[in-house]
Amino acid sequence: MDDYETATAETLEECRELWFDDGNVVLQAGNMIFCVHRGLLAQRSSYMKELFETISLTPPQYQVKYKSLPLICINSSAEDARILLSAVYDRNVFESALSNNQQTFALLEQSTRYDFKDLRAVVLDALTPYFPTTLDAWSFAKPSVKEHRPFSKRGSLIAFANIALHAAPHFLPAALLKFICCNDISRPSPVWYKGYFRGKVVELSPALKTAILRGRSTLDQIARTKIFSRIWRTPLACTPGPCAVAKKTASHSLARDSDGIIKPFATTLDLSTGWCNVCRRIMEDDWQTSMPHVWYELPWVFGLPEWDELLKDAPPPRTNVEVMDIACAMECEELWYPDGTVVLQAGFMRFRVYKGVLSKHSSVFADMFAMPQPVEAGAYEGCPLVVIHDSEEDTRAFLHALHSPDVPRAFIDDERLALTLLRMSHKYAAHKLRTTLLRALEPCFPTQLVDWEARLRTLPERTAFTTAGAIVQFANIAELAAPHLLPAAILALVPFCAHSSGEHPFGLATFRGVPVKPEHRLVRAVVQAREALDAVARTEVYLEIFNPGNPDCVALEGCDAARANAIAALADADGLISPFAHTKSEPGWRPEMFCGTCRARLERRFASGLRSEWKRLPERLALPGWDVLSSQVQDVEMPGP
Ligand SMILES: [Zn+2]
Ligand SMILES: [Zn+2]
Repeated sequence: MDDYETATAETLEECRELWFDDGNVVLQAGNMIFCVHRGLLAQRSSYMKELFETISLTPPQYQVKYKSLPLICINSSAEDARILLSAVYDRNVFESALSNNQQTFALLEQSTRYDFKDLRAVVLDALTPYFPTTLDAWSFAKPSVKEHRPFSKRGSLIAFANIALHAAPHFLPAALLKFICCNDISRPSPVWYKGYFRGKVVELSPALKTAILRGRSTLDQIARTKIFSRIWRTPLACTPGPCAVAKKTASHSLARDSDGIIKPFATTLDLSTGWCNVCRRIMEDDWQTSMPHVWYELPWVFGLPEWDELLKDAPPPRTNVEVMDIACAMECEELWYPDGTVVLQAGFMRFRVYKGVLSKHSSVFADMFAMPQPVEAGAYEGCPLVVIHDSEEDTRAFLHALHSPDVPRAFIDDERLALTLLRMSHKYAAHKLRTTLLRALEPCFPTQLVDWEARLRTLPERTAFTTAGAIVQFANIAELAAPHLLPAAILALVPFCAHSSGEHPFGLATFRGVPVKPEHRLVRAVVQAREALDAVARTEVYLEIFNPGNPDCVALEGCDAARANAIAALADADGLISPFAHTKSEPGWRPEMFCGTCRARLERRFASGLRSEWKRLPERLALPGWDVLSSQVQDVEMPGP
């Protein structure tokens, strides 16, 4: 056979930096040749290993030689091959290549094509922050994505997406999403699927073009029917005036593209002003519950295979914190059933429990297990490993409650446990447990006036949920998990305002020894409630004291003195009066000081005033009415068919 050197020597160029004297194979890419080591490449790449095995089986007379070494043509450009081989030989070169888009793309493509697994894993690691596969990572990455340059140009995103289509399909959902988020596709110019990369025009592959157009309209539909659906629907209890305006503004601000398409992952809706409490709560809830589902369905949105199919060829991420957690996590002794069928990990603690039990109690877990396990799915001792984002403590308490069916009623005395379980049972839609909790918590935060009066009477003996700290903690959770208990919680906080300062609106509130900082919104609600209730006290409940109108009074001076005495007793340190701080047996005035007819009028007014004002209490607190509040709880408990 001819020596290749004599035939084409003029057209071939030896690559200086990749020409080893002890090399035992010559690779040719384009017109560039590299003299490298078979053993080294074979060890790193299964493709190369097979290639060299084939060569060694080829009879010598059919082998092509260059300077008596076997010469093998590989299907890459000279530049791509140089980048790949440099990276294989030199870790520093490799790392600096990762700061350069073109070289990173080349490495991704080449390491995938020739199956350099470890190289590919590091390249993928470097790219993962820009193309997350989990919703958490996407939400976390969002701000930095803007300030970081690599993929802010359409051209580089196009170049990347074309390569990812074959080399890293699991990056595609995020890459295509970025496309939609960063471009107004409906504009005729610039042409959204074309751009410049390294001075050359690049065009998105037709398959991806189709995927993006499909994904864009599907996401718009999902945004309108799921994530933000309430913008176009009015909840029962909404106060139509202000919310109608807020809704109009929201639907405008959501649809920014010129054809009015909504891009749910590009927009956040500002709910802090203009919305009534009902709408805001419902919208927040919708958003929080639907976004994970949409993320899970994202590949389908683009017509791609499911996440687990996409992730099949992705190596487990190396720099992922969760993976490090998994490596040094501990098994929870009390919640480690040897025949458990799923391992949950929260923080550094793992729990081996039963899918069946979790699914039975929690519809969130039921849904989760009904789907094939996506993203972070791993395995531990043969069980699927699910990482959940709650604290070890909370998870332990929750799993305990689910696995021991008889939760003692007395657990309400442990305020922290009660709050943890309320929050977790709401989050994971564990309806039975939540109902038990609500029933146990209701005496502390009643919905009926008689129960409120009972609460006042038993207050001195009670230990649970009597401190400002505990009530604040409860109110924070109740806003979503127990809205019907919120009026009483706000009412219970009012007396603490009398000991307030700017820094400590409810006095020095602590919970289990730790200072509690109430949310601004809650503080505002309580302060407003206090003023509204003061007006109610003066004009309704205690009207006869502030505006006496008894023509039959028989002791004018005595009754005047009695009223002055009552006003002094009723007003708190700031001179404000709470109508619900007193009961029939202790109405806040001294009955023996009034004449008979005045006393009778006072008592009548007091009783009827309290009754009618309790009915209007949520309204006075700027909350939806009692019936709506409790229907919100039932909605959650009895989901429709
Ligand atoms: Zn509203
Ligand atoms: Zn009188």
